[in-house]
Amino acid sequence: MISTTDTAIIGAGPYGLSISAHLSHRGVPHQVLGEPMLAWRNFMPPGMLMRSEAFASDLYAPFAGYRLEDYSRRMHLPYAPIGMRLPLERFVEYGLWFQSQLVSHVRPVEVTELRRQHDGFRVSLSDGGTLLARRAVVALGLKGFEHTPPSLQGLPRPHVLHSGEIGNLMWARGKRIVIVGGGQSALGLAALFNELGAHVRVLVRDSIITWNKDPEVDRSLISRMIRPEGGLAQGWYPYVLSEFPQVFRSLGQRLRKRIAETSFGPSGAWWLRDRVVGKVDVQMQTTVRQGAVHNGEVVLDVSSGSGQSTVTGDHVVVATGFRVDLARHPFLSPEIVAGLSLVTGWPEVSRNFESHVPGLYVTGPASAMSFGPVLRFVYGAKYAAPRIARHVSLRHAEEGGSRPFEPLGVPQAHAEGGPGGLQRPPAAFQEAKVPAE
Ligand SMILES: Cc1cc2nc3c(=O)[nH]c(=O)nc-3n(C[C@H](O)[C@H](O)[C@H](O)COP(=O)(O)OP(=O)(O)OC[C@H]3O[C@@H](n4cnc5c(N)ncnc54)[C@H](O)[C@@H]3O)c2cc1C
Repeated sequence: MISTTDTAIIGAGPYGLSISAHLSHRGVPHQVLGEPMLAWRNFMPPGMLMRSEAFASDLYAPFAGYRLEDYSRRMHLPYAPIGMRLPLERFVEYGLWFQSQLVSHVRPVEVTELRRQHDGFRVSLSDGGTLLARRAVVALGLKGFEHTPPSLQGLPRPHVLHSGEIGNLMWARGKRIVIVGGGQSALGLAALFNELGAHVRVLVRDSIITWNKDPEVDRSLISRMIRPEGGLAQGWYPYVLSEFPQVFRSLGQRLRKRIAETSFGPSGAWWLRDRVVGKVDVQMQTTVRQGAVHNGEVVLDVSSGSGQSTVTGDHVVVATGFRVDLARHPFLSPEIVAGLSLVTGWPEVSRNFESHVPGLYVTGPASAMSFGPVLRFVYGAKYAAPRIARHVSLRHAEEGGSRPFEPLGVPQAHAEGGPGGLQRPPAAFQEAKVPAE
């Protein structure tokens, strides 16, 4: 079945849903492709606490009433913008609530192929359907960018797993788990595994673990002026990166790439320290040279300050982060990948997030080389969603406004509102037309 729309949003996480809310407000027909909040529901461990502060864990609508704070108030749940331990489950429920209120036109499918067709895109879907769209927005988060060091590549699952694909942890009870990495994912998993009764050992390459400072609530005006609160962290540098991603974009490409890849590196959240220090076996300055699976256990050759040794476990969890490389998304056609002119995997995008492929927008972590580290976090959607929606709606208006995209050979009956097409926005959305915040 072929249907059409103006804009296909690929990915239904915080970015995709926020962009959809803004496009609906601007009257741009579109479809969101993907299971809402799937990465948070399936690939993150239940019991995890959000690393971002609550005020930096919103999805973004073009009007007031849909922030995490609003949701918490409606549900009579406690809320504090700073210093709150925000459980993953609450964030997921909030994201699904946001979607139910503002984003009705979601198709819970996987995109299997995206390629150019005429002056738009042909999107093949896992339900067998095809969507023709004038424009496409890639908002896929970190999925597909898991980084595994060469020494651990090629080892069989489930003996070796990446932290980005873990989900439920119950299977680990009583097992020996070796975690490689020293950042939030490694330390957060170490605490959770330990608390459910696994035998945990963490191998950290660096000589120290950086722990984030306890949050300072109710700061004085002077303190807030000296160290303003940014979505990424406190201080002028994080503040500018958080609130003005366009400033980052004005820097030279080499500098941007370096900052995007290295700043806000591995660290542990303030609420993790007491759950890890003295409770979990953490070995510093340890590098995994080689790994293998023998007789059902993982055997790692490691080198450390005290020389070479062997570490064994039932499972190894690789928590060594993510490396953006859009060429790794198998659904992007070779023609599109070539058109993106990638810089070691990163796409360069315009100030409106449009890539070198006209009509193809890239946002979220994949756009961090252009707009900075804030795009690696949910907070970046605050800037990206209105920006992309404004540009898409301008283009849409230039092309004739409400006229749906009608490429040659597509029966009108299947365009918008046909099977899988745009549905009416929910009542809550229509009522919500109050001035933008
Ligand atoms: C363990 C962990 C903890 C994190 N904690 C925080 C935190 O506390 N705060 C914070 O700000 N950031 C956090 N992040 C970073 C955060 O995940 C990203 O910044 C954020 O997900 C980006 O949102 P998104 O909408 O771009 O992507 P996602 O939320 O990942 O959504 C993308 C969606 O696209 C879907 N998708 C992928 N491929 C396809 C396809 N082919 N077809 C259709 N759909 C597809 C995915 O299933 C997913 O649902 C964390 C990341 C990890 C790994």
